[in-house]
Amino acid sequence: MEQQQQQQLSFSPKRIVVVGGGLAGTLEALFLAKRLGNAYEIRVYEKREDPRLQAESSGRSINLALSTRGLTALEKVGLAKEVLASGVPMYGRGIHHMNGRFEIQPYGISKKGEFLTSISRHLLNCILLNACERAGVLIYFRKACSSIDLTNNVLYFEEAEVFNLDRSVDSTEQVLGGEFDSFSSRFTDLDLQVTGDVAYNVNMIKADIIVGADGVFSKVRQVLENSAQSKFHYSQVYLPTCYKELTISPSPSGSYVMYPNCLHIWPRGRFMLIALPNSDGSFTCTLFMDEEGSAVSFKKIETSEHLLKLFSTYFKDVIPLIPDLAKQYFQSPLSFLMYTQCEPYHFKDRVVLIGDAAHAIVPFYGQGCNLAFEDCRILDELIELHSGKWSEILQHFSKSRKPNADVIARLALENYLEMAEKTSSRLFLFWKRIQIILSEWFPNTFPSLYRLVSFTNIPYKDATCIAEQGHATLRKYLVCGMCLTALGSFYGVKYLWRSK
Ligand SMILES: Cc1cc2nc3c(=O)[nH]c(=O)nc-3n(C[C@H](O)[C@H](O)[C@H](O)COP(=O)(O)OP(=O)(O)OC[C@H]3O[C@@H](n4cnc5c(N)ncnc54)[C@H](O)[C@@H]3O)c2cc1C
Repeated sequence: MEQQQQQQLSFSPKRIVVVGGGLAGTLEALFLAKRLGNAYEIRVYEKREDPRLQAESSGRSINLALSTRGLTALEKVGLAKEVLASGVPMYGRGIHHMNGRFEIQPYGISKKGEFLTSISRHLLNCILLNACERAGVLIYFRKACSSIDLTNNVLYFEEAEVFNLDRSVDSTEQVLGGEFDSFSSRFTDLDLQVTGDVAYNVNMIKADIIVGADGVFSKVRQVLENSAQSKFHYSQVYLPTCYKELTISPSPSGSYVMYPNCLHIWPRGRFMLIALPNSDGSFTCTLFMDEEGSAVSFKKIETSEHLLKLFSTYFKDVIPLIPDLAKQYFQSPLSFLMYTQCEPYHFKDRVVLIGDAAHAIVPFYGQGCNLAFEDCRILDELIELHSGKWSEILQHFSKSRKPNADVIARLALENYLEMAEKTSSRLFLFWKRIQIILSEWFPNTFPSLYRLVSFTNIPYKDATCIAEQGHATLRKYLVCGMCLTALGSFYGVKYLWRSK
C-alpha cells in the first residue's frame, strides 16, 4: 500500500494544478498551457459538474460586463473575437428615472470601441473550457479540493460520485477522453465515505505549482490562512446589500422588449434594479437592496402584495415586462455580497492565488472578472520576465497585484453610491457628460476615471492618480475661469459707470 502511494505521488513531467475551473481558473490554465505546455502537465480540478453538460436556462445565470482588461487577456489567448461575437455590446447606462423618463448616459466613445460587452458567465466558461481542452489541459470535474499538504505540495480532493447518474456522466468521460477513468482508478480506496446516495472518494495528487482559482470561499486560501508557515493575512466584509435575480424574457417573436445596447439602471437611492442584455433576447435583472433595517429591504417583502407595491412605486415600467414577477422573486435565492482582502497572494515558490480567491470585490464597477482575467495576463507576463523562476514570479505577482486590487475594491464600493444615488441627479449627469466631452477633446489633460478603468489596461492605482491629476487641473481651470469672469465683470461695470 505504501509503495502504491509512493507511486501515486511520484510524477513526471512537472505538473501545475489549477484548483477551480471557473472563469479565472480556465483562463489561467489556458495561458499556462500555451506558455509552459511543453514543460508542464496542466490540470484543472473543478468541484462542480461540467457546465457544458448543463443546458443554460435562458438568462438565469449571472451575466457579466466585460471591458478592456478582460478582453485584452482573452485576446492574448486568441479568444476575444469569439467572446465578443457571443456577447451584446452596451454603449452606456440606460437610466430609468422615477417619472418614467429614460435617458442614455454614454460610457465612453463608441467610435473608439469604448463599450462593455454583456456575456453570460455560463457561455464564457464553456468557451474557456473548450479552449483549454484544445490546448491539452486535463480537466477533472466533481473534484472538490478539501486540503493541501503545503510541505509536500500534495492536494487532496473529494470526488462526489452520485449513484444512479444519468447519461451526463458518460458524456463527462467522453469529454475527458479516458483521463477520468485512469484518474479514478489510480486514487480509489484511499478513503471512502458513503452518505445517502452520494459517495466521496478522497483523492490525492502532487504538484510543482498550485494555482488557487477557487473563488471567494477558496479552499486553497483557507489552507494558507491556517498555516503558520505562510504568515498570511485575510479579511472579509459582508455588505448589508444583497441581491436577487429576475429575468425579462424576449417578446414572442424573440426580440428584445427594451433597448438592448445599454446597461439598464433604475437608481432609487439605497436600492436599485439593473438589467443586462443576453444574446437570446432576454435580460438578466439584479435587484440590489439591503437585507433588512432600511425603509425598503428584502425582509419587508413577504407577500406578493408587498412586492407589487414595491414595483408599482419604484419600478412601474418593469411590471408588464415580467408577467410572473412574484413567482420569479420568491423562487430566486437571496444572495449576499462581500469583499475579501488577503496578503500575500502566494506561498513560497509554489502556491499562488488568483481571481476572487485572492481578492473578491463587490460587483458595482463591473470589474471582478476583468481583474481576475488581468491577473492571468500579468502572471503570464511575469513568467516570461523571470524566465520561469517561480520564487521571483510569485513574489513579483503579489507585490504588483495587491495594491491594484485594493484600489479597484475601493472604487467598486464607491461606485454603488454613484449607480444607486447619483445617476438620477441631473447635475451629476451633466457633470459626467462634461467629463466625457473634455476627456474626448483633451484626453491627456482631463482623463475620466471610468474610461481609464474600463477602457485601458493602465494599472488601477495609476489610473486613479492620473484621474486625480486631471480633476485637480480642471478645478484650477474652473477657479481661474471664475476669477477671470469676476474680474471681467468688475472692469465691465467700472467702465460702464465711468462712461455714464
Ligand atoms: C452579482 C454579481 C455581478 C457581477 N458582475 C460582474 C461584471 O459585470 N463584470 C465583472 O468583471 N465581474 C463581475 N462580477 C464578478 C465576477 O463574477 C467574479 O469576479 C469572477 O467570477 C471571478 O472568477 P473566479 O474564477 O475567480 O471565481 P468563480 O467564478 O467563483 O470560480 C471559482 C470556481 O472554483 C470552483 N471551486 C470552488 N471551490 C472549489 C474547491 N474546493 N475545489 C475545486 N473547485 C472549487 C467553483 O465551483 C467555481 O467554478 C460579478 C459578481 C457578482 C456576484
